[in-house]
Amino acid sequence: MQSLQDLYRFSQQLSYSEHLMPALFIGHGSPMNAIEDTLFSQNWHSLGQSFPTPKAIVVISAHWLTKGSAITAMDFPETLHDFRGFPQPLFEVEYPAPGDPVLAKDIQKLVHTDLHLDHDWGLDHGTWSITRHMFPQANIPVLQLSIDYDKPLDYHYQLATQLRDLRKKGVLLIGSGNMIHNLRLLSWDKMEDNYGFDWAIEINATLQQFVVDYDVKRLIDYEKIHPHISLAVPTLEHYIPMLYTLGLKEKKDDLLFFNDAYVGGSLSMTSFMYYQ
Ligand code: ZN
Repeated sequence: MQSLQDLYRFSQQLSYSEHLMPALFIGHGSPMNAIEDTLFSQNWHSLGQSFPTPKAIVVISAHWLTKGSAITAMDFPETLHDFRGFPQPLFEVEYPAPGDPVLAKDIQKLVHTDLHLDHDWGLDHGTWSITRHMFPQANIPVLQLSIDYDKPLDYHYQLATQLRDLRKKGVLLIGSGNMIHNLRLLSWDKMEDNYGFDWAIEINATLQQFVVDYDVKRLIDYEKIHPHISLAVPTLEHYIPMLYTLGLKEKKDDLLFFNDAYVGGSLSMTSFMYYQ
């Protein structure tokens, strides 16, 4: 396993097609990454600086689960502090990016499913903990697309394929979750030394291989991946955002993994990017 110091860091040398925005899956981990200068958040910052400026950002966050799919459609989404028991400075973070109601309506027309235009949600920490590092000026419109938690996994992948063309229009799409996410089993004394339980390392490697192979079928059929899969993916909300990113892949995309590390044994921060 890599040591944390060896984690890939983005440099300005990465170049991107002007005609296609990258698509990202980001392991967001603890909300504290929003205010701490970690290797993870440093990479988010470098990544944001390396991109052509997006026209808008659409995030599928593990922390917005709905009945039916919805997209935020307000002019100014509120910064939601959707967690408990964290230090006060985290509750004071504001990420005052504008929304983009016109884009929300365009996306509503684009997809083959009923998409509710939402005026009640805002930006949860699955979004702003990342975007405040990537785009600290908060001057790019940010929307969230909810996760309809009643739907089968294939629905999410298929919905994402309908969003793929947004990449050609300069929209940055981000799935924000974690491949391995079991907070109940976290070893609180092993939060900072890239420690993963054996089963977490095995399952994470398998998931990564399926991403490399673009084996969407096996990722959707996740229960058969490993005898301990229910430890790695006890609930699906942090896993589903990855399926959205998979659905955004264009044929000629390159794939780059980053932040490939473990926190507290049972959380992986492994993230990836499709880009040209
Ligand atoms: Zn989360």
